[in-house]
Amino acid sequence: MRFETKAIHTGLHIANPSKAVIPPISPSTIFEIDEGGLKEGDFHYTRLGNPNRLQFEHLIATLEGGEEAAVFSSGVAAAAAILQALKPGDHIIIPEDVYAGNRILVKEIMNRWGLESSFINMTGLETIEAHIQPNTKLIWIETPSNPLMRITDIAGVVELAKSNGIRTLADNTWPTPVNQLPLELGTDLVLHSTSKYFGGHSDILGGAVVTREKDDFFQQIRLNQKMGGAVPSPQDCWMLSRSTRTLAYRMKGHNEHTLQVVDFLKENKKVADIYFPGVKSHPGHKIARRQMKGFGGMISFLLDGNQQEAIRIVARSKLITRATSLGGVESTWEHRRSSEGDGSVTPENLIRLSVGLEHPDDIIADLEYALG
Ligand SMILES: *Cc1c(COP(=O)(O)O)cnc(C)c1O
Repeated sequence: MRFETKAIHTGLHIANPSKAVIPPISPSTIFEIDEGGLKEGDFHYTRLGNPNRLQFEHLIATLEGGEEAAVFSSGVAAAAAILQALKPGDHIIIPEDVYAGNRILVKEIMNRWGLESSFINMTGLETIEAHIQPNTKLIWIETPSNPLMRITDIAGVVELAKSNGIRTLADNTWPTPVNQLPLELGTDLVLHSTSKYFGGHSDILGGAVVTREKDDFFQQIRLNQKMGGAVPSPQDCWMLSRSTRTLAYRMKGHNEHTLQVVDFLKENKKVADIYFPGVKSHPGHKIARRQMKGFGGMISFLLDGNQQEAIRIVARSKLITRATSLGGVESTWEHRRSSEGDGSVTPENLIRLSVGLEHPDDIIADLEYALG
């Protein structure tokens, strides 16, 4: 079956005895125990497992091509469960412009707990190789990166990591499995903030870890999910399954609109530079073409001007909403550095735009007015 079909049909039959075409939401926190006692795989207590959670875990694992998934109450909770599966004294390599929340998670929480980390530019394999230490246990990939849209060669990093016995993870939140399949390129794990394109409507917070195989490392992540307790509600899991049914078609729209918006921005005199892997002049374009089916819905661009000018322009839009985050049906944009806080490496004149599913002509007309 193709992606679109799997997205629509997967997970519907799991724990759905009434054969409702769309499974009901199961808000119950407890499940009646069989007279013969609890058996492996029985539902027991919702923190440990719930029908709606199992349905969504099955769906997202299938779409990423993994064996299993563990879903969480947010993307950073999923990231924390991965990092906590490492041991104090272990070392990780992670992009210097990694999603800002994950940077703070590593620096302010995990480093205090004994995890060592190197934040580096991950566009060159030689740089990554130079930072490998005997205790390096995980290489964290985020491509395209946020918000600099740098491209990392996933297959290249996997090869390097494998020859050094190191695990790899790709944060696939921005491309989604519609545009990029890291497990197919050899990574061990995929991370998602399902708050973005999976949810797709800016109304659910969630995260997920998908694993290539159910190994000991993933079993530890599963334990962190159940005993760390940052689990999503049955309602949120149900909503996420519902949103995911249309993911392929929403991503097609995001991909297509974004190419049109990029064409407009390229010609605008106020735009000094565009960070988008779909343009030929992007330094990672060749690699992006190889490992991505589409370039996604995110654009960062540098304004010909300073921070004040960038903030002023973002304030002028009438349609594009001034807000952080991404992946909703509505277009949003922001002066990114203001959102990232201390330690940000984002240029002061960078605007980050999440291109939505409004008619592209309306998005472009609003940009034309705001950049005026
Ligand atoms: C938003 C985001 C996260 C964090 O997810 P939350 O759901 O906000 O906790 C992680 N990685 C990337 C790339 C993101 O955009």
